Amino acid sequence: MKRLCNPNYIMHSRSSLLCFGALALAVAASAPLAHAQGAEQDAPAKNAIFFVGDGMGVSTVTATRIFSVGIDGHLTLDQAPFTALSQTYTSDHITPDSAGTMTAMMTGVNTNSGVIGFGPETERQDFLGNGDGPALTTVLELAKAQGKMVGVISTARITHATPAACYAKSNERNEEEYIALQALPTDAEYNLGLGSGIDLLMGGGRRFFVPDTVVDEEGSTGRRTDGRDLRAEFQAAGYTYVYDQTGFDTLSGANLPILGLFESSHMEYEYDRLTDLGGEPSLEEMVAKAVEILEANSPNGYFLMVESGRIDHAHHAGNAYRALVDTEEFDAAINAALQLVNLGETLVMATADHSHVFNIAGYPLRPQVELPYPVAYAPVEYMASAHGNILNTVFDINASTGGVEISSDLNAVPYTALLYGNGPGHRGAGGRVDPWSDATAGYGGVIPLGPEDPAYMQEAAVPLSSETHAGEEVAIYAWGPNSHMVRGTGKNTGCFRLMKRALGL
Ligand SMILES: [Zn+2]
Repeated sequence: MKRLCNPNYIMHSRSSLLCFGALALAVAASAPLAHAQGAEQDAPAKNAIFFVGDGMGVSTVTATRIFSVGIDGHLTLDQAPFTALSQTYTSDHITPDSAGTMTAMMTGVNTNSGVIGFGPETERQDFLGNGDGPALTTVLELAKAQGKMVGVISTARITHATPAACYAKSNERNEEEYIALQALPTDAEYNLGLGSGIDLLMGGGRRFFVPDTVVDEEGSTGRRTDGRDLRAEFQAAGYTYVYDQTGFDTLSGANLPILGLFESSHMEYEYDRLTDLGGEPSLEEMVAKAVEILEANSPNGYFLMVESGRIDHAHHAGNAYRALVDTEEFDAAINAALQLVNLGETLVMATADHSHVFNIAGYPLRPQVELPYPVAYAPVEYMASAHGNILNTVFDINASTGGVEISSDLNAVPYTALLYGNGPGHRGAGGRVDPWSDATAGYGGVIPLGPEDPAYMQEAAVPLSSETHAGEEVAIYAWGPNSHMVRGTGKNTGCFRLMKRALGL
């Protein structure tokens, strides 16, 4: 993955690297820098890009760093000049879902899990039967009302909870057929808060735009029960519709407004993307294209939401490999945006909606090439490790002999550094088995070739069909005007307030 450099961006990253661990102190002590940076940071932002790594908890960022650039390396996320901790609980759950958290981040109102665009007085599916409360206003709607262009990109279905919370209102996140209508300017259910409409929509989820009697461009049957073909209706409303890599490659500002639906359901995991039937763009490609189009065509500025939706799905499937590759791709997409924007006028924020029960466990030794001392002996599995040893079983140094030895559990069975608290990776009644001889079916049903195989399903303590989210804080990373406000620990609703303030909405 190539990482080019925006000079403006490099300036920030160098200073953040130098001051790491004492950033606030360093800025305060360095008056000229603080003044220059502060002046730039306090200026109003013309544009804002809000990146959401769905399910990208801090342990996912750490594991991705080791997997991708090495434990001493720096992801784009690591180079953000300002960071904070964001609390993710919803009005009714300690551990949240994406509907509640994205509504909070888009509207500034903490609400119930499962609910999109309504406040805490709205129960999921209105189970009390007392009707919904007033609909909330999103930062996307406010930006549109001020004449800015607005875009929504996701590798999940574009009608899925996170993207939907930018533009729709529903007391049930799974009402995706209905959610799609709220983005269609000519429909009776259209969300009038979107004005002339969302200028750019790209992602998966074609199934909720295609009738359940019709086979789509990649051979999948639609899911709409009302017989309507929204692909045609969006085009009648002025949208350019594309569905594959070839169509994506032709897009330019002349095609606005744009609807790109690249998959029947969610887009492919980045690891599997090249096997896609019709061909589909990467998240990095979608972001670069969108930012180029918006930069060139929005004199009043723009708001763009970008979701990496499948970090979450890979974790739910207990497959760390795909979660890490999608996080690496998310990081590359942020880098692509940072290269294309002017950070003097564009606020860029990246965060997660919630974490996952994903752990870096034991005391795994770093690879031999990274150790400050030679080792007396080592198992072949240790010597052959890839990806900074993060996917491997745990090895440790024996301080008496200077040799590397396998770390094992109480029953002398080795275990991997990456583990899940629950999920499909539970090994069943037979108990734990050595990951190197484990024949448990991995992601996609194949028998994995050890714990570093892309199909390997990490072990889980509690058997569940789907691994769950986790309740601890997630990080917020920020660049550009007003990003210095991103500090300390606070509720995720602060994301809305910061963007509203920065954009003068
Ligand atoms: Zn999830």
